Amino acid sequence: MITEGELNPLRVANHQFNQAVPFLEQFHDGAGLREWLFEPEQVVRVSLPVRMDDGHVEVFRGYRVLHSNARGPGKGGFRFHPSVNEEEVRALAAWMTWKCALLDIPFGGAKGGVACDARMLSEGEKARVTRRYISALGDNIGPHTDIPAPDLYTDQQTMAWVFDTYSMMHPGENCFPVVTGKPLDLGGSLGRDSATAMGSMYVTEHFLELGGLPGLTSLDGADVAIQGFGNAGRWAAKLYDGAGARIVAVSDSRGGIYDPNGLDVSRIEDHKDATGSVVDFPGTKPLATKEVLEVLCDILVPAAMENQILASNAGRIQARLIVEAANGPTTPEADATLQERGIIVLPDILANAGGVVVSYYEWVQNLQNQQWEEHEVQEKLRKKMYRATNQVVTIRAGLLDAIEHHRSTWAGLHPDDPRVDTPTLRTAAYVVAVGRCANTLLERGIWP
Ligand code: NAD
Repeated sequence: MITEGELNPLRVANHQFNQAVPFLEQFHDGAGLREWLFEPEQVVRVSLPVRMDDGHVEVFRGYRVLHSNARGPGKGGFRFHPSVNEEEVRALAAWMTWKCALLDIPFGGAKGGVACDARMLSEGEKARVTRRYISALGDNIGPHTDIPAPDLYTDQQTMAWVFDTYSMMHPGENCFPVVTGKPLDLGGSLGRDSATAMGSMYVTEHFLELGGLPGLTSLDGADVAIQGFGNAGRWAAKLYDGAGARIVAVSDSRGGIYDPNGLDVSRIEDHKDATGSVVDFPGTKPLATKEVLEVLCDILVPAAMENQILASNAGRIQARLIVEAANGPTTPEADATLQERGIIVLPDILANAGGVVVSYYEWVQNLQNQQWEEHEVQEKLRKKMYRATNQVVTIRAGLLDAIEHHRSTWAGLHPDDPRVDTPTLRTAAYVVAVGRCANTLLERGIWP
């Protein structure tokens, strides 16, 4: 079991992957499949000299990891954050592979990042870091090889610079499909901005409809706390509020606010736009950044960073359902505590997959020079998210049933073997996703 001192996302990703392996017959004969699937296909490290506004030159480190292109071109966002390092990007790229496979979209997984504090960069500096990063990656990205998108501290404007830089390097080509999450008038898709939160809402609402959380069958009237107020968290606050939920707490990197009677989301948005933070919103109780995770609520939506729900705070979480809008917010130790306490987790590779699904729709529209209506995008997204939710819930029930009735052995392990943990929804999601990727690799075989 991973300890809190070992909060390396790559170990977390590896642990989650290994939880699923005993349940997958493709791994029975060894065949090197575990390493073949988990190791990234390509890791690119780039050094980015950038002239800063005051004239000095700063050299940033950037990464792009193509985890797998077995099921299609690599797909995954890139982030600007001081904690970016190779192992983090490798973990995030692997999560993208499983996410795309789980949602059954024809992409592999990739991710990128530049180690920098975007909040300290001027607009011009951010543009120069982005352009240098994209030019340094060269043809390691491309519409049919690896397609970036937004992530932490990157947005539509950043994607516009990516598109422009790549277009300058490839004159005369339709470069729109090289990047998704673009502004609407630059080939972006209607519905992409809200897609991550919208997808998480569809997963949650369908899970509740399926009876996943006793006593709560819809978002209407549910108390919801949200950590993070950027793309994923802010849209989640708006959409869940619109679906009748009461948003009792939100936070961003500076702190949080709490009101058990419910927050006025649109006024908080105005306050965030005016002051740069949700903190100090009048009439609310101030919270420390992480305290938002521990407030009394039905549903907790971590939508900020990885490694937020840890062994040290999992015992204090009061929500009954956690919807992972962020990537990797829960460590394996915390997962075990939550499971013991009966708190259900809708895992990241399912709950935040709406972003990549609509990125896929954007890519298809760009390849066909089309623009779909917003309601078309949302209806397609809803169907995808519902279908994946059904599959995860059904597979988990099947695994539990098989364990109970001792009907199968997995990867040579008897179901009573202590190495076979009781499968969670996360493990079930991995069983679907990793199983699909394993099938693809085995069908394709090894070249030459
Ligand atoms: P963002 O940069 O738009 O917003 C991040 C938010 O988190 C900001 O409000 C920031 O203030 C807050 N934050 C940062 N550090 C914090 C901390 N320590 N405690 C509390 N809040 C903190 O980023 P985003 O795109 O919303 O991404 C958030 C998460 O969602 C990430 O894990 C990302 O990988 C994941 N995600 C995003 C997308 C997408 O389409 N944007 C898709 C899938 C997953």
